[in-house]
Amino acid sequence: MDLYEYQARELFDAHGVPVIAAFTADTPDQAFAAAEKIGGMSVVKAQVKTGGRGKAGGVKLAQDANDAREKATAILGMDIKGHMVHRVLVTGAVDIAKEFYVSFLLDRANRSYLAMASVEGGMDIEEVARTKPEALARIRVDAIDGVDAAKAAEIVDAAKFPADVRDQVISVLQKLWDVLIKEDATLVEVNPLVQTDDGRLLAIDGKVTLDDNAAFRHPSHEAFIDTAATDPIELRAKELDLNYVKLEGQVGIIGNGAGLVMSTLDVVAYAGEEFGGVKPANFLDIGGGASAQVMANGLDIVLNDPEVKAVFVNVFGGITACDAVANGIVQAIALLESRGEKVTKPLVCRIDGNNAIEGRRILDQSGLSIVERVETMDQAARRVAQLAAGA
Ligand code: GDP
Ligand code: MN
Repeated sequence: MDLYEYQARELFDAHGVPVIAAFTADTPDQAFAAAEKIGGMSVVKAQVKTGGRGKAGGVKLAQDANDAREKATAILGMDIKGHMVHRVLVTGAVDIAKEFYVSFLLDRANRSYLAMASVEGGMDIEEVARTKPEALARIRVDAIDGVDAAKAAEIVDAAKFPADVRDQVISVLQKLWDVLIKEDATLVEVNPLVQTDDGRLLAIDGKVTLDDNAAFRHPSHEAFIDTAATDPIELRAKELDLNYVKLEGQVGIIGNGAGLVMSTLDVVAYAGEEFGGVKPANFLDIGGGASAQVMANGLDIVLNDPEVKAVFVNVFGGITACDAVANGIVQAIALLESRGEKVTKPLVCRIDGNNAIEGRRILDQSGLSIVERVETMDQAARRVAQLAAGA
């Protein structure tokens, strides 16, 4: 999960990376209030999960609180590379003497971590990396040894930081490493890390990517999830522990196992070509246990997508045998209808594997007119595409 700047700043602050006073604001009036608390000049910054905000006009200096309100009015609602600005961060303003760049990231290719640092920080580090690669120091960091004072000094010297900030940067790098390790991040970046006119070192802009696989170790990170920006059906699926991804098509897909679901997407897209380009509407893996409850949850999610015109249930019975899956489908429909959610969209089912014959018999004798059982995956894909096209 990528964090917003204001969230990255919180983590920096918690681990002693020096940051400047700041408050978030969702309205111009809140920006006014924030700037008043800060006092003097402030900077109003768009909170969007994309870089280059400065160049896009999403970072503006404000003279006083009234000006901060005006700047916030201009920035809120702005579209920055397809990201709508709903929130700004109002920060104290500083006089900048120099802008540096520092980051740590997981370097998968080298099975290690990588430190990057440059004295040419600011808005264009990608440009520096491309045109002046020698100005961006890259130092491998061993995952076990981490970043102690000596390692930090190695990074600082490789990037040729000026002598007057050397000790401060060494200290900041160790704290930034703490953010990476203690918060289970895969990227921590400060750009710019500034030296102010009065000689202080401050992280003015930050980027943090958290490792979602470690989320269970950090209950507090849950607050970082941006529920407003997440698809509501995806959110509900997550609550139900289902692997669901919304796609653009018309055929709802439910399968067990990621490999089966992926190949189902392919055959449906292929079969859909004949019917004017019918496509899968989602990816939904119900995993190993295809119980009535899990199946009902899956159907509930998929049927609630208004784009879905027909559903393909493609299950290969393993530990959960086909008769249990078939009963799951039948009971799931009864469960939904008992909740007042009448199921009217056609369900094309292909079940194979452990105890398939009994499973098929259960579906055939269910008396459910919306359930259509088809023998093979290819036939089922063609049939569901046809139904979704209304052909
Ligand atoms: P980005 O464009 O998304 O990377 O946004 P940043 O937060 O990095 O801001 C872009 C640029 O705005 C920085 O590189 C600084 O040059 C400038 N800037 C940000 N805060 C201040 C500040 O307090 N004072 C001054 N003088 N410039 C600032
Ligand atoms: Mn920046």
